Formats: sequence, structure tokens, C-alpha cells
Amino acid sequence: MSAKEQKKVAIVTGAGGGIGLEVARCLLLDGWSVCATALDVSSELEALVGADGFTIGADLTADGTAEQIVAATVDRLGRLDGLVNCAGASAVSLFHEQSEAEWDSFLDINLSAAFRVSKAFISAALEMPRASRSIVLISSLAALAGGANPAYGAGKAGVCTLVYNMAQSYAEQGLRANAVLPGIIDTPMVRKAFPGAAFERLKEKAEARTPAGRLGRPDDVAELCAFLLSERASFITGQSINVTGGFELVPPIGKI
Ligand code: NAD
Repeated sequence: MSAKEQKKVAIVTGAGGGIGLEVARCLLLDGWSVCATALDVSSELEALVGADGFTIGADLTADGTAEQIVAATVDRLGRLDGLVNCAGASAVSLFHEQSEAEWDSFLDINLSAAFRVSKAFISAALEMPRASRSIVLISSLAALAGGANPAYGAGKAGVCTLVYNMAQSYAEQGLRANAVLPGIIDTPMVRKAFPGAAFERLKEKAEARTPAGRLGRPDDVAELCAFLLSERASFITGQSINVTGGFELVPPIGKI
């Protein structure tokens, strides 16, 4: 099979559950081969990827992990066409209560890990023949609104800046980069941060103030990521795109 006939290859980090798992599912349905990574690889992820790629359980905050993921992908799947960085973590924390250690650790996984994995992807891609490539970094509405954790919001805002830089620096090499900003999506991360009755309260309030009238689902975000990785999005680069159901919109004056 020539390189042209081969399936396109994507790396999806944070594919253990929630948004990342759905991104992997969408790309596999679109015919991609996928290297899916997570802190812990579930049997669900393993079964989903099957023979159409492989999984890696690894901590993206550890030295060398990003490079190892990219090298393993090149070694096993032979190409690098797309990257969707979904790995991230959050917990509710008041500004004045955030410790330095917590600040460092949330910035590390939400911003520095996105930098590391993008850098490893681009460095390897630049060694390969020129091709259309696309990077999507999952940011958050917290980048615009602050979020419930100062380091998380700052990190997610930083992610948008990384995308602007990559889009400008590597367009000539065929690489596009975009950020996706989900609103409130029903995933393990949100259910862990708002356990039990707190989740039901959050859901009720969010549904009431969201024009779309519901919480987001992981596939709402995944569909956009798959589109951004595809050639159908070939003129879209350096953008930060909200997937929020309109949650952030100010209500019309008559409804305030
Ligand atoms: P999730 O907790 O279900 O998934 C997070 C994933 O990140 C998991 O697969 C986990 O293994 C991985 N991960 C966490 N720490 C890691 C580490 N140190 N090394 C490697 N992998 C690590 O959460 P989710 O809601 O699906 O979140 C996916 C992305 O979307 C995150 O970047 C999150 O910040 C972002 N996001 C989520 C929401 C939401 O409402 N759920 C909103 C905005 C942005």
C-alpha cells in the first residue's frame, strides 16, 4: 500500500473517557488509525481501538512521555496526520485558596502537557515529507470566563495562544492548529467535581441558562474535532471555537 492509500493516523490524548473517548470513536468511524492515550487505559478504550491503532497508558506530565507517544505512533502506524490533545484535569478551587503546588500541577497537565505533545508532534512531522496535518487542542470556556479554578482557566487560555503561534509558524509546512472550547459537557470530570446532588443542581441551572437547553455531550465536541482534522476544514486555522450550546451568550435585554 502506498503512503497515499494508507489510512490517516491521529494521536488522541486523554482518550480514557469523556470527550477524548468520543474523539477516538469519531476518528475511527471516519477511517483513521488512532493512537489513543490516557493515564489509565480502560477495557472500553482498548476494545474501541482494536486493530485500528493502539493504546498507551502514560502520564503526560512525566519527562519524555510526549516524545515516546509520538515515536511509538510513527513506529507502529508509519504516519502522523492529526493530533487531538484532550488530556486535562480540573477541580473546583477558590483563587485565594489555590496552593502553589496545585497551581503548578494544573498548569502542567492543562498547558505544559499540551505544549509538550504538540512540540513532539511537530518536531517529528517536520522530519517527514510535507503533508496536510491538523492539531486540535481542547481548551475550555474557562479560557474566556475564568473557570472554577484559576490555574485551569489560565492554562486553558494559554492553550489558545499556543494554537495561534503554531498556526502562524507552520502553515507553510501544511500544518493547521485550532483550539476547541467546550462549555459544560457531561463527562466523568464534571461528575467528579460536582458529585451527586451537586451535579443535578448544576445540570438544572445550566439547562435553564443555555439557549440549546441542555448540557453538552462528549460527541458534540468530538464531531467538531473530527471535522477540524479533516480536509473539509482546510481553510480553518488559528481559531478558538466554542462548543457551548450558547451558554456564554448574554440574554436579550427583554429577558434579563
Ligand atoms: P475526563 O476526566 O473524562 O478525561 C480526561 C482525560 O485526561 C482522561 O482520559 C485522563 O486519563 C487524561 N489525563 C488526565 N491527567 C492526565 C495526565 N497527567 N497524563 C495523561 N493523561 C491524563 O474529562 P473530560 O471532561 O472528557 O475532559 C477532556 C478535556 O476537555 C480536558 O482537557 C478538559 O479540561 C476539557 N474540557 C472539559 C469540559 C467539560 O465540561 N467536561 C469543559 C471544557 C473543557
